Amino acid sequence: MRKLSVLSVASEIYPLVKTGGLADVAGALPLALAAEHIAVATLVPGYKPVLDGIKGAAPVARLKELFGGPARILRGKAGALDIFALDAPHLYVRPGGPYLGPDGFDHPDNVLRFAGLAKAGAALAQGLVEGFSPELVHAHDWQAGLTAAYLRFSGKRSPATLLTIHNLAFQGLFRAETLTHIELPAASFVEDGLEYYGQVSFLKAGVNYSDAITTVSPTYAHEILGPDQGMGFEGLLRARGDALSGIRNGIDTDVWDPATDRLIAKTYSSRTLTARAENTRALRGKLGLPTIDGALLLGVISRLSNQKGLDLLLQCAPLFEPLNLQLAMLGSGDPDLVAGFKAAAEAAPDRIGVHFGYAEELAHLIQAGADVLVVPSRFEPCGLTQLCALRYGAAPLTSRVGGLNDTIIDANDMALAAQCATGLHFSPVTAEALAAALRKAAALFKDKTLWRKLQLNGMKTDVSWTQPAKTYANLYRTLAE
Ligand code: ADP
Repeated sequence: MRKLSVLSVASEIYPLVKTGGLADVAGALPLALAAEHIAVATLVPGYKPVLDGIKGAAPVARLKELFGGPARILRGKAGALDIFALDAPHLYVRPGGPYLGPDGFDHPDNVLRFAGLAKAGAALAQGLVEGFSPELVHAHDWQAGLTAAYLRFSGKRSPATLLTIHNLAFQGLFRAETLTHIELPAASFVEDGLEYYGQVSFLKAGVNYSDAITTVSPTYAHEILGPDQGMGFEGLLRARGDALSGIRNGIDTDVWDPATDRLIAKTYSSRTLTARAENTRALRGKLGLPTIDGALLLGVISRLSNQKGLDLLLQCAPLFEPLNLQLAMLGSGDPDLVAGFKAAAEAAPDRIGVHFGYAEELAHLIQAGADVLVVPSRFEPCGLTQLCALRYGAAPLTSRVGGLNDTIIDANDMALAAQCATGLHFSPVTAEALAAALRKAAALFKDKTLWRKLQLNGMKTDVSWTQPAKTYANLYRTLAE
């Protein structure tokens, strides 16, 4: 098969820098695509952890001026990943995270930081680095959304372009005046360009100027065409309906493998499932939860935001005692939710154990130790934690939206009879429906044979990138032609 060269443009990539699922995808998809004879190099902003983390980095290009200072492109490796780091300290090296400053607010110059990423991406796509001429550019989310716009207005030949929307809630909206600073022509500030209700939208630029658009699950691709989940983009996505498709995410099954995971208390597989109990014990210990006879241990690993629906789980806390549930919760984000869960844990320390912040190791232990992983999202483009949960034998209990709908087989009567259920769904996304699902989980959990089957079904589900990578590869080849 002919080798295809692809430039991926992403604002975060695992293992160098990660705030959420986008990094996981940007870091795992290129590895899976290698098996499809697709060579992916990824352009990422040169944040400090990126510059520190890439091995053998050497400058391969210079940009005299990139929105306020000079920039270099370094090429190096992160494991097997081929990385272009955009070394522009005036844009990327500073306190805080990739998007937020230490004060918790957006960096005030995000418009320039991510226009810079896209501009460098377009230059790379058009031959800036000798010997690198990709046939396709794959841009991720609003941060890379302008890549296709710079290509469109460059007046030069451009490779094919693909935009993946990982989360439509983030649209990269900036004041109209910024257009002059980011060096795009007034001709782009139109309804079928990047103008969005009088503002500039980086995501809209990506939607309108890319040859094709994907999102990260088939159900989400359908949901975003309607007013409930379209977030104002439903009309323009419908207009580009022929170019839009949904490809579900996978997970890196080397990073997430209970048989080899060094971050958990005891490794196990479907053949040694009883060993899993040691992780449950360790998890309880870590979060100060006592062992209660027959209690079902719920787990949560999540950003705490309105999207993730954890306020609904908080409303269900009074049920934990009567249903004999406990909760091991890892999350960071919204201060009101943090305060809410903190208070709930103080009120019921035997039932609720919490850890706030970002903690990779604890995330693995929760997957390995919880009986059920709860994901009550109001919307969920794909979701990765439920995929990890399947692989680790923590039955996912999720709302029936987006990628959660596409990746879990609900334990309804038919699925139980056919012995193919892998988790539990609830719908609509309300506290009442979640409570009903918790009740059902508590009841099913008492039947140890049934529960074990549920776990084993999940563990043998293919959550890898193998199949999605084939779908991406086919799309890449079609677009490149
Ligand atoms: P999103 O990208 O919307 O936050 P996903 O489910 O797609 O949600 O991906 C979340 C990723 O981030 C998963 O890999 C999950 O394990 C990880 N994660 C989320 N919150 C935390 C946390 N507090 N500590 C460690 N890992 C986390």
